[in-house]
Amino acid sequence: MNLTDLPNLSTKRLKALSESGINSLLDLLNFFPRRYLDRTSVSKIRRLSGNGEEVTVVGRIKNIQQKGYGNKKRLEVIIQDDTAALKGVWFKGAHYMKKNFTKGEVVSFFGKAKRYGRYTSIAHPEYEKIDDSDDIEDLKQIMPIYPSTKSLSNTRTTSKIIHNWQKVILKHEKPPEFIPESIRQSQNLPVRHKAYRMIHLPQSASEYKKAFKRFKFEELFLFELSVAKTKNEIIERHKGHVFEDLGNYTSRFFNQHLPFELTDGQKSALSDIKKDVRSGNQMNRLIQGDVGSGKTVVALGAILMALDNGYQAAFMAPTEILAEQHYRTLSDFLEAMDINIRLLVGNQKNSLRTDILTAVEGGSCDIVVGTHAVIQEKVNFNNLGLAIIDEQHRFGVKQRAEILEKGSHPHVLVMSATPIPRSLAMTLYSDLDISVIKGLPGGRKPVKTAVRPQKKHDEIYDFVEQELKDGGQAYVVYPLVEESEKMDLKDATAGFEKLQKRFSDFEVGLLHGRMDSDDKDDVMQQFINNEIQVLISTTVIEVGVDVPNASIMIIEHAERFGLSQLHQLRGRIGRGERQSYCILIYGQKVSKEGQYRLRKMAETNDGFEIAEADLELRGPGDFLGTKQSGLPEFRVADIVEDQWILEQAKTEAWKLINQDLSLEKSEHQELKKVFMPYYKERSKLYGIG
Ligand code: ADP
Ligand code: MG
Repeated sequence: MNLTDLPNLSTKRLKALSESGINSLLDLLNFFPRRYLDRTSVSKIRRLSGNGEEVTVVGRIKNIQQKGYGNKKRLEVIIQDDTAALKGVWFKGAHYMKKNFTKGEVVSFFGKAKRYGRYTSIAHPEYEKIDDSDDIEDLKQIMPIYPSTKSLSNTRTTSKIIHNWQKVILKHEKPPEFIPESIRQSQNLPVRHKAYRMIHLPQSASEYKKAFKRFKFEELFLFELSVAKTKNEIIERHKGHVFEDLGNYTSRFFNQHLPFELTDGQKSALSDIKKDVRSGNQMNRLIQGDVGSGKTVVALGAILMALDNGYQAAFMAPTEILAEQHYRTLSDFLEAMDINIRLLVGNQKNSLRTDILTAVEGGSCDIVVGTHAVIQEKVNFNNLGLAIIDEQHRFGVKQRAEILEKGSHPHVLVMSATPIPRSLAMTLYSDLDISVIKGLPGGRKPVKTAVRPQKKHDEIYDFVEQELKDGGQAYVVYPLVEESEKMDLKDATAGFEKLQKRFSDFEVGLLHGRMDSDDKDDVMQQFINNEIQVLISTTVIEVGVDVPNASIMIIEHAERFGLSQLHQLRGRIGRGERQSYCILIYGQKVSKEGQYRLRKMAETNDGFEIAEADLELRGPGDFLGTKQSGLPEFRVADIVEDQWILEQAKTEAWKLINQDLSLEKSEHQELKKVFMPYYKERSKLYGIG
């Protein structure tokens, strides 16, 4: 059977389907209902409370009226069931909508029912025509309602027609199962062809729910299978160096030189790393921890394990400032031990650089710290055993793979200070194992957060002045206005001039995206050195920069920022001895969601909690900025809601790959047919394989 064999399929409709991405019978089967109209869920109009609850009602059209004039024009469609009448109202497109209805037709309305005067009304209801021959009272079947695309509705391809097509297809076609039987059994999933029936021709709500679960699993399973295969083929193809000996450096450092107790989170991350480097496989691990959770010491632990076994380590930071900072921190920690650590950045003299490169190549340098670019392009290691990548979010799967492939196939440890909910991290960093450092080191003073209106500026500046007199430093951040750098600059520049006057006893600096990177580094360095006390900035403040003396973060128009961004900014302070304050200043007209975000910030300092809330508000796409993030888009599954299914799919996928990497077994042949094209596509996307 072919698509063109379907009844009622004109050339126009065929084109409309194609424009909606449907080019085969299977595509059409995979075109799932948006919701279902279930007789048991249809309300009687008289029983509606009219308080704005979401309802489905079914009735015959009694009257169609246009009311009002000019741009106040509206369309009212009154329907009646056997109990009462209800009004559907359209304030927009009244004229156009009118053509969709005919007196005497039976329709269903879906939406929020509110009582106004004599009628209960639904504004802009979703509507569906119900065939006259289906007597309303006999509407036993559950009716699937299909999404309507523009081209479909232009060709009057109704849900009813699509539904009929599905019936015809399912009479003739029986898509073969490809999920291996044992997995299908253990996950309690309906077999594929039945699941399609349950989606398109369900007998009950529990049927289509079960079917949906199957298709979600199917989708996530294929994804996890591709992850597992990638890891096996590309990443774990190399045997890892085995760091058997955890002797001298590591134990000396942790027993004698570490100036504090490790937190439980740090200990557990270190024990994950220890397992990895002794396993015989290449480590490829992400350490996720909120700002200030103490990732650096964990990284250092890994470095010492490498050194103990005669290997070198590389520490790669995204910017020179961060590289310098890490270099200083590590040097301080290692002061008492005989370890050769070198810093490699762009602005060094040639002779110095040559000296460093020679030391690294010759093996006398144990640790080299530098920017990603410099280390990747310039350095030949004598015996690199471990590469650490700090702040990976500018770093893709492909670049990580390149490092794993580098000469001696080092272990790779990626560190991220961006809290990402687990489900998202699992899909986004699918090539990595993940450790999360929970909690912050004790004895830290949590940042106090206040939310204030603009009219409080004077009081806020008085407060800031007190802190400055007391030896503190402050950030003042302005938002990026509609991505326009000009506007963005205008706000920040005006703020800069104003605050220069207000804080005339102090040095005020300005940092923005249009400065070249040397100038930016200069200003930042001055702030680090406390030569600048108040730093006005757009959102370009470097992530990860540590200025322990900075104790105030003022964010102007805080309502315009996303939650995660606010949290990142707040993470710049609270890094030292003094009590730190984050002051979120809001403008006029803050949306409900904006208010929620500000409240959330005031309520908690927990980055993961904030990330969860942010993800819920924005969805995975916006949360990460999908395109560049490499996050796969799922058709049926929702990685936030379907976390549990994701975990199950992952477990099953790994089990299968461990038994049958190339899918050679006879029971995996159907799976192979479906999987291989999918896998090719995905590998291309990731630029690997
Ligand atoms: P981040 O995870 O943001 O990179 P850092 O590694 O820079 O955090 O650590 C932040 C600060 O906390 C540093 O000054 C570090 O020395 C200190 N620190 C790290 N671990 C502990 C601990 N267990 N107890 C006390 N202070 C710690
Ligand atoms: Mg850090």
